[in-house]
Order: sequence, then structure tokens, then C-alpha cells
Amino acid sequence: MRITFLLLCFSLLSVHASATEKTTTRKPLPSAGVVLTFDDRNMNQWVKQIPLFQKYDAKVTFFVDHFHTLKPQQIVALKQLQAAGHAIGCHGVKHRKAVDFVREHGIERYLQDEINPAVKRMTDAGIKPTAFAYPSSSRNEEIDQALLKTFRHLRGGTGLAPNQRMRDLKPIFVPVDQIQQTGCLIGTGIDYADTEKRPHYLTEVKDAMDHAKQRGEIVIFYAHNISDNGPGHHLSPKALEEILAHAQQINLPTLTYDDLP
Ligand SMILES: [Zn+2]
Repeated sequence: MRITFLLLCFSLLSVHASATEKTTTRKPLPSAGVVLTFDDRNMNQWVKQIPLFQKYDAKVTFFVDHFHTLKPQQIVALKQLQAAGHAIGCHGVKHRKAVDFVREHGIERYLQDEINPAVKRMTDAGIKPTAFAYPSSSRNEEIDQALLKTFRHLRGGTGLAPNQRMRDLKPIFVPVDQIQQTGCLIGTGIDYADTEKRPHYLTEVKDAMDHAKQRGEIVIFYAHNISDNGPGHHLSPKALEEILAHAQQINLPTLTYDDLP
């Protein structure tokens, strides 16, 4: 009788332990946050910024396309980013625009050609993606639903109209308590912040972060390369540092896509 009782206690304890383990694998969400994302195949530049991210204890997400064409050294760079606590997401096999492709070939073919092979390649390389960013932010509800069977979250995008304040760009803010049920997060582009192309952007980004902090929301941004002169669309390391410093100053944690429930 006593042995049975002890066994019962033991099994209850182990059930409790495994349940606790499950809920503690992901760190609890903060009261507000900023999700910074970078797209395409700029891993050789991204990897140089690991010390900058470390300086501000910042973690971000990199969305990679054409994974099957990467050189071993580029995969090493991704692994270094991953080891530094950053998340690596999927950005499609060939960076195809989802809406056009689905209109022409259907959703099944889209999954077969553009999604599944990328997920498999990345997973086989030890970089299993939990998230997907739409190339050119081309998306719709039907494609979201299909992709959310594979990914926990997606990323679309929206632009800022001339004279619009970034804090008024409603889709880029999600209340922390609604993040779990928001499959597709919408970001806005911040390349060229603090250059003559977008001289006021840094102020707008910081203001949008203040807004998220005050309202208990998560704000989502995207950029591409991190460099002073490209190649391609880019955010300068100096502008990135100002964004990270501001986040630290107002105590707004950075979150990766892998941190999101
Ligand atoms: Zn892209």
C-alpha cells in the first residue's frame, strides 16, 4: 500500500515536472517589445554585427532565401548568428512573390516549390525555421492560413505614407497578449534610416518604440543588409546602434520570432 502510494506520488511528480518543463522552454514574454528582422542573403555582413548586438543584449531574426545556393561559409555565418542567440527564418526557395505564384499555379504548387524544399534544407542543416517572411510582402489571408500549418508566425509588411507618423501605422503594433493568436505580423521597412533618403526615420522609429512601450505592444521592423553602402537595401551600423541603444534606454526588450508564443 505504502509502495503504491509512493509510486503514485512519484508519477504525479514526474508528470508535473514534464508539464513545467514544457511551459518554461520559452522565456516569458515581457510587457512590451521590439521585433527587428533582416532579410535575404546578407549573412556575411550580418555576422560582423554580432558584437554590436551583444553590446545591447539584443536578439533579432534573419530571414534567408535561396538557402540551397549558399556556400558552406555562408551557412557557417548563419550558425554563428544562431549561436549568438538570433533566430533564422525562411524567406522562400527562390524569393518568389506569393500572391502572383499562387494565382498562376495554385497553393499546393506554391508549398511544393517555394516552401517545403526550403524548410527541409534548413532543417537538415540544423537551422529549423519557425517563421516565414513574405518576399516583397506579397501575401493574402488564404496563403497565411496554408503557411501557418508549417510556421508559428509570418511576416508581411506595410509602408509609411508621406507625412504619416510611424506611431500611427497601426498594423505594425500588436498588443503583447494578442501576439500568440496573430499569425502574420506586419512590419515596416527601416532601411536607409538616418540617411538623406530617409532623414527623419530614426526619430520615427524611436518614437514608434516609445509608443509600443507605453501601450504594452510589440512593434515589428524589417531591413536588409547592415552596412554603410550595401550591396542592396541597407541600414547603417550607426543607425542600428542608435535603435538598439534607444531600446535599452527605454527598457524595451528585443524579441526574436523564436521567442514568440
Ligand atoms: Zn527579400
